[in-house]
Amino acid sequence: KELPPNDLSGAPKVSLKGKVVLITGAGAGLGRDYALWFAKYGAKVVVNDFKDPSKVVDEIIKNGGEAHGDKHDVASDSQAIIDNVINKYGTIDVLVNNAGVLRDKSFAKMSDADWEIVQKVHLFGTFNLARLAWPHFLEKKAGRIVNITSTSGIYGNFGQANYASAKAAIIGLSRTLAIEGAKSNIKVNVVAPHAETAMTLTIFNEDDKNLYHPDQVAPLLVYLASDDVPVTGELFEVGGGWIGNTRWQRAK
Ligand code: ADP
Repeated sequence: KELPPNDLSGAPKVSLKGKVVLITGAGAGLGRDYALWFAKYGAKVVVNDFKDPSKVVDEIIKNGGEAHGDKHDVASDSQAIIDNVINKYGTIDVLVNNAGVLRDKSFAKMSDADWEIVQKVHLFGTFNLARLAWPHFLEKKAGRIVNITSTSGIYGNFGQANYASAKAAIIGLSRTLAIEGAKSNIKVNVVAPHAETAMTLTIFNEDDKNLYHPDQVAPLLVYLASDDVPVTGELFEVGGGWIGNTRWQRAK
């Protein structure tokens, strides 16, 4: 049996024009970079951060983009965050769960508090925001979620029992939402970036030459948020060769 002829008319256009995008933890680091890129592609960006996000909002507006600030904590204020998005723009099209904290400690010394805060910000924050965005996605039979995980969540890492566990759980959550959202055109993917930011530079040294610049990560997120993206339920490692490099170094 022969395959049907190719139809190239469905090639992706990758525009986010007019899309309402919520990005958590976007006041700094990778989140800020994602916000700038989404705005550049025409999205209306809600820049969430529990520290004042107004600098990033101003930066976007200065570049001719559309943005709105949200200063709430993803660990405790998910309803207020979604309410702010809906009050401002009337809907939500894309959710990027990026906010994060580290409380690194060797497993033997890890306290309840170290464990709890990391679960609350990463896992509970991601779960709660996805759950609150979900009815909006179901109603219009369209939605995009990009959850940020980490190579720690895939491979584990020294001092990160709390963070690796939360980030691993986010992969399971993302794949489940992709399955449950498939019939409603809700696409959910999960990205493990390994890029140079203020946070990663505190734990990696100058030998880590293979770290990506955030500008090498953000375009993937733009693509995953776009209407014509064909993939869902996928895990993307954007590691700049870092993983192979580290394993080789450990083996030495
Ligand atoms: P990365 O290296 O991943 O970019 P950063 O620490 O630079 O990490 O960025 C994480 C962002 O998430 C910071 O701007 C931080 O203020 C924000 N953030 C951390 N915890 C929360 C929270 N509970 N709610 C909202 N934003 C948060």
